[in-house]
Amino acid sequence: MGQVTPASGSAAPVERPPSGTRLDPWLGSYADRTHGMRASEIRALFAVANRPEVVSLAGGMPNLAGLPLDDLAESAQRLVASRGQTALQYGSGQGDQTLREQILDVMRLEGISAHPDDVVVTTGSQQALDLVTRLFINPGDVIVAEAPSYVGALGVFRAYEADVVHVPLDAHGLVPEALEETLTRLAAQGRTVKFLYSVPNFHNPAGVTLSRERRPRILEIARRHGVLLVEDNPYGLLGFSGDPLPAMRSMEADGVIYLGSFSKTFAPGYRVGWAVAPHAVREKLVLASESAILCPSNASQLAISTYLTEHDWKGQIKSFREMYRERRDAMIGALKEHVPDASWTVPDGGFYTWVRLPDGLNAQAMLPRAITALVAYVSGTAFYADGQGADHMRLSFCYPTPDRIREGVRRLAGVISAEREL
Ligand code: PMP
Repeated sequence: MGQVTPASGSAAPVERPPSGTRLDPWLGSYADRTHGMRASEIRALFAVANRPEVVSLAGGMPNLAGLPLDDLAESAQRLVASRGQTALQYGSGQGDQTLREQILDVMRLEGISAHPDDVVVTTGSQQALDLVTRLFINPGDVIVAEAPSYVGALGVFRAYEADVVHVPLDAHGLVPEALEETLTRLAAQGRTVKFLYSVPNFHNPAGVTLSRERRPRILEIARRHGVLLVEDNPYGLLGFSGDPLPAMRSMEADGVIYLGSFSKTFAPGYRVGWAVAPHAVREKLVLASESAILCPSNASQLAISTYLTEHDWKGQIKSFREMYRERRDAMIGALKEHVPDASWTVPDGGFYTWVRLPDGLNAQAMLPRAITALVAYVSGTAFYADGQGADHMRLSFCYPTPDRIREGVRRLAGVISAEREL
C-alpha cells in the first residue's frame, strides 16, 4: 500500500485513507454533500467550444464589445489614485453603502422600492444563490424549480443535497396551475418545500418570460403554501421591446428574495450581484456571506459605483439590447431557414432560445458530432435535475456576431439531417 511521506521528523508514515485511489488518496474523506457535485455540462464544453474554428452557441458570455474600455481604464486608474486606500481595503460584509443606494436606482426600473439596508452585495448573483441555499436547505428538503432551470442554480441545489422538483413552463412562463398542483401534492406527501426558484424574465435556458398576468398568481400560490420565492433576475433589463415588466419583488416584499446582477447589463468580470431579502433573512445572508468571503470586493464595487455615476449606464443597456435583438433575429431567421421542422421559443430579451429537436433526436448523443462539425450548443439535459431534456438544446445568441450565428445554425442543420440518417 502506498504511503504519504510525513513532512519531517520520525513520526510514523501516514497511511492513505482506505477508500482512496492513486488518483485521489482522499476519496474516502469528502463530505457526503460533495457526492452530487459534477462539472457543469457547459464548463466541460468550454475548452472545445472556445476554439476559434467552432461556432459556439453554447456559452452565456455577454458580449462586451460595446463597453467604453478606454473610459473604464481611465476611471479605474483615477479610482486607485484617489480612493485606493478604500478600494484596495476590506469593506463591509453587506456591501458598499453608495453602491447599495445605486442598486436601488437600477431596481426602480422594475418597480422595486426598497431601502439600501435591504440590499446585500454578493460576488455575482451566483454567490447569492449559494447563500440562500445554504440558509434554507437541509439535505432532502425540496426546492421547486422551473422545468428547465438555470444549470448553475441546479449545481448549487445539488451541492446542498436538495431534492429539486420541477414544474413546467410554457410560452408565458411558469404555469400557475401546475405550481398549485405540485405544491398541493408535495404537502400531501409531507414534504418540506423550502423555496420556489424562478427566473421570470428571458429565462435561462427557455427564453420565455412570465406574463404580467401570472405574476400575482404565482405570488398568491406561493404565499398560500407558505413557500418563499427566490426571484433570480439577471436579464430583466435586457428586453427587446417595451418597458421591463414589474418584478415580483415589487408586488410583495415579505415572501420574496430577489437576486440581481451587473454581469449581463455591465460586466461579469467584476463579479458583483446582489440580493434583496426580508429583514431577518437579510441579516442571516450577511452573516453567511461574511463567513464565506468576509466581504465582497471593494475594488469591484467602487469600479461599478463609479461607472454608474460617470457613465450613461442606461444608454449602455439600450445599446446592449439593440445588439442582442439583432442577434436574436439572426438566430430565429436562421432556424426558420435551415431547421424549419424543429420548434423553438422566440425570446423577447436575454441571451437564449430553447430548441426542440425534430423526430425524437437526442441532443446529448448528437453533441460530439456537432463539435466535429464545428458548432457547439448545450444539451437540454443540463437544465433538469432528473435527466429529462435530451430532446432539447439551448442555443445562445449573445456572443457570436450575426454572421457567425447564421453559420452556426447552418452547421447545426447539417448535423441534424445527418443524424436523421443514422
Ligand atoms: N442566474 C442566472 C439565471 C444566470 O443565467 C446566471 C449567469 N449565467 C447567474 C444567475 C449568475 O450570474 P452572476 O453570478 O454572474 O451574477
